[in-house]
Amino acid sequence: MRDAAHLLNPAAPEFDEVGDCSLDHLVSELITGLGEDVEREGLLKTPHRVERSLRFLTSGYGITVEEVVNNALFAAEGSEMVIVKDIEFYSLCEHHMLPFFGRAHIAYIPNKKILGLSKFARVLDVFARRMQVQERMTSQVADALESVLEPEGIAVITEASHLCMMMRGVEKQGSSTRTSAMRGVFKSNAVTRQEFLESLR
Ligand code: ZN
Repeated sequence: MRDAAHLLNPAAPEFDEVGDCSLDHLVSELITGLGEDVEREGLLKTPHRVERSLRFLTSGYGITVEEVVNNALFAAEGSEMVIVKDIEFYSLCEHHMLPFFGRAHIAYIPNKKILGLSKFARVLDVFARRMQVQERMTSQVADALESVLEPEGIAVITEASHLCMMMRGVEKQGSSTRTSAMRGVFKSNAVTRQEFLESLR
């Protein structure tokens, strides 16, 4: 059994190593429970593949933001708004373990530090590759970047399609969900916030 350390520190690995707590027998049981025959040829390797796949899709538990940001912080030379648009992400909804996926847009106004542009996608993945709800993922990305960058302000908007809505339940295929987290001047200054929102049109 794993302990509760990962609950106190959500960035802590849940398992020491891949394979330390094998899931493939549980996947076998799941498949059997669904009425399938795990012995038939097409399914023989499925439990193993599903385990590998789930380990990857939840690999955010094993990475910290500090590790990702590592050495990519630079001294800010100005305080103009930086906007990184259309960052793809894929996550798993924690209610159904079905994917939700879409794009994130991140803006910040530097104070003392800037972050290498490629790192925004990686910070997003730290939180996307977990069991999530979109609202929390959006806030966690904003909070993490706020603590790393100590900016004048940071804004994160995510737009996502949820397979749990599209494939089941209400079956609203065309719907997308937008959530946002505004910190610092993006929260306090409507003009700054508007500048960011306009840039997304
Ligand atoms: Zn769901």
